[in-house]
Amino acid sequence: FCFAIVNVFLEMCRYPLGMTGGQIQDEDISASSQWSESTAARFGRLDFDNGDGDGAWCPGITSETDGLKEYLQVDLRSLHFITLVGTQGRHADGMGNEFAQRYRINYSRDGSNWAGWHDRKGRQVIEGNRNAYDVVLKDLEPPIIARFVRFLPVTDHSMIVCMRVELYGCEWLDGLMSYSIPDGHQMIFRGLDVYFNDSVYDGATAERLTRGLGQLTDGTWGLDDFLHSHIYSMWPGYDYVGWNNKSFPKGYVEMIFEFDHVRNFTSMKVHCNNMYSRGVRMFRQATCYFRSGPDWEADPVTFRPTADRVSQIARFVTVPLGDRTASSIKCRFHFSDLWMLFSEVLFQLSFDLTGDDPTHKVDDSNTRILIGCLVAIIAILLTIIVIILWRQVWQKMLEKASRRMLDDELTARLAVQTQAFSSHHSSSSSDGDSTSNSTYERIFPLCADYQEPSRLIRKLPEFAQSTEHLEKTDKALANGGLEGAPHYAEADIISLQESSDSSTYSITAVNINLFAGTDSSMKEFPRHKLTFKEKLGEGQFGEVHLCEAEGMLDFLDEDLSIEGNNESPLLVAVKTLREDANKNARNDFLKEIRIMSRLRDPNIVRLLAVCVDTDPLCMITEYMENGDLNQFLYRTEPEEKEEKSMVCSRKLIRMAAQIASGMKYLSSLNFVHRDLATRNCLVGKNYTIKIADFGMSRNLYRGDYYRIQGRAVLPIRWMSWESILLGKFTMASDVWAFGVTLWEILTLCEEQPYSQLSDEQVIENTGEFFRDQGKQVYLPKPACCPDKVYNDLMLSCWRRNAKQRPSFQEIHTQLMENDKH
Ligand code: AMP
Repeated sequence: FCFAIVNVFLEMCRYPLGMTGGQIQDEDISASSQWSESTAARFGRLDFDNGDGDGAWCPGITSETDGLKEYLQVDLRSLHFITLVGTQGRHADGMGNEFAQRYRINYSRDGSNWAGWHDRKGRQVIEGNRNAYDVVLKDLEPPIIARFVRFLPVTDHSMIVCMRVELYGCEWLDGLMSYSIPDGHQMIFRGLDVYFNDSVYDGATAERLTRGLGQLTDGTWGLDDFLHSHIYSMWPGYDYVGWNNKSFPKGYVEMIFEFDHVRNFTSMKVHCNNMYSRGVRMFRQATCYFRSGPDWEADPVTFRPTADRVSQIARFVTVPLGDRTASSIKCRFHFSDLWMLFSEVLFQLSFDLTGDDPTHKVDDSNTRILIGCLVAIIAILLTIIVIILWRQVWQKMLEKASRRMLDDELTARLAVQTQAFSSHHSSSSSDGDSTSNSTYERIFPLCADYQEPSRLIRKLPEFAQSTEHLEKTDKALANGGLEGAPHYAEADIISLQESSDSSTYSITAVNINLFAGTDSSMKEFPRHKLTFKEKLGEGQFGEVHLCEAEGMLDFLDEDLSIEGNNESPLLVAVKTLREDANKNARNDFLKEIRIMSRLRDPNIVRLLAVCVDTDPLCMITEYMENGDLNQFLYRTEPEEKEEKSMVCSRKLIRMAAQIASGMKYLSSLNFVHRDLATRNCLVGKNYTIKIADFGMSRNLYRGDYYRIQGRAVLPIRWMSWESILLGKFTMASDVWAFGVTLWEILTLCEEQPYSQLSDEQVIENTGEFFRDQGKQVYLPKPACCPDKVYNDLMLSCWRRNAKQRPSFQEIHTQLMENDKH
């Protein structure tokens, strides 16, 4: 995938920069000298035979030595990534016969420090023209990043040379002017010399490399096996710059990146090798400092990527830079093994409102025209936006209408919601504000915003043509999966609770039988009987504490499943709503209490009691000694991991079977969890697993959620295609998430699902599931996953047709059978 990008980038970045086309102004073309006014620099444009001039630039050579210093200079006005150059001689319709057989290129980013281009083997001289008319193109390997480029004909005094030139490339938007790093080291691998030096660095090379750019910005990234290279006949290790841990007593390599001016940075992508079998691993931690003035700011950004002990694939690691503003960034990359190898560093910028670029000088005489054009473009854009918005409103109305026809039951529910909303409007209007301010709100299916096919699906080009197909799918989904099962049982439960004093919710009473015999009211536990022991973790709601609950067993007055005796107080987990929580968070917290109070199963975390009479609100749940499943598996020691893969995942499959069992219980209640993932399962004694988190996502796992339209936060990597594109959450979409959870378990949570894909690419992949043309990417078979489990179970959870996915009953049976074999 990365290869594709690299090639596309280098192949795409070959636009003529404007010598022929005239975008480069005459005053930006200069020369060391000219033979005559009619062979001045401005005539040195490729394929340009202007009547005024003599058909090319020709220097005025006075002596042999001067001849070597002659140059034609092009100022591109901003930094450009230049991949190709073209030269031509002076033909002048057969009147001229001067050309440069050989030439060199010098370039500069700031106009004062100049570097001489050389190829990857150190050769500076480029073979030029053989006649006065043919254009000779030359790939710059490595490409250069520069604003000023000089062509220096290599000649002897006996020959007059003339040149016409063109530069090809694209604008270098990073604004990165230079990086400074310790030069790379040499590795001896099985008697082979492997050089990790930055061999194309164009700055000063002393103890550290300074004031230059090189292999880390050459647009070529390394292969998984660092001994091999994309580039033919280069030495082993060529693509990478790498360092040995032993030479860095502080345990990190420091790199400084200097930019042309102050910019806003969203993230940095570092392409790392991860051949851990040869002692190479991606960095353990990156700490980046920022500087806009003379001093480094005190508060760095620190990022720890998830270590990958499974895959040796070289990959881009994205370091979030938190939209910090800087003109220099200093990053310390900490080793996690003997070697650390990088092949590319890229920066992603956010839109810079204040960024006045000193390299972009606007010609005064053109300013008015420019402003006029901009105003015209803005006006056209505004008109287009208005038309698009108008079309969207119509489309929305049409979709709503078609959905209404397709899904009567849903319409009834929506109607109830609307009615309820209008009847409670005055009392709940203040909630509205807090909703829009919410920073973490997880989607609730009846939220009108997400009820319609998401805007995401409109991104799919064929959506317009295939609404019919989509509607069919939609209908199938609406009826499918579970016969007659309400899709949004969770919402029903909530409504049920809220309906006690409201006739508008009567429709949901149909579902009362779901919870027949279950006492929905949670008893208030005396707060003073809780004794704090330690902090267990932190979620979006607030902290989770381990507490002793004095007299809890008496209080519960039943339940033999809770271990303990009345002499010693019971250990419980107490989740507290943080004091500064807004109304929205408070409602969600209460919602989680309501849901959990109705669930009773050995594989569902049990809510024991609550403290809601006074603030802060607390829910008391059973204590799960080993924390969440994601961390539990991730922390497993490497030796244990080996053993696990040998026993081939038996224990792991048993864990998954417990989750399936809990989900089987939820499905018997038509309850849709919507966020099944290892992070939301807890581990107790003897590998007991229980499903938890009927509320919010956690801080620790923020990266697992994707923010859509600035509001809803979705765990897209766990979501079925129809949940993402149509907003459909059903038991069948929980089955999809179960498939991903099973994958996580069998990979010991060492990697985020689809870790190679960005959030946007995951959504695109979802589109491929929808299109079903065989282009969708599935999560790969984990190393220790039995073939049968992958082929018969995991893949079946991700079937496009929700009806064809197995039920939790079937999944559970299958996993139990697998355990027996
Ligand atoms: P949450 O707010 O539910 O996302 O929980 C935050 C963290 O607290 C989890 O990642 C767990 O490590 C820990 N935690 C939550 N509930 C329990 C529990 N019942 N027993 C043990 N640890 C828990």
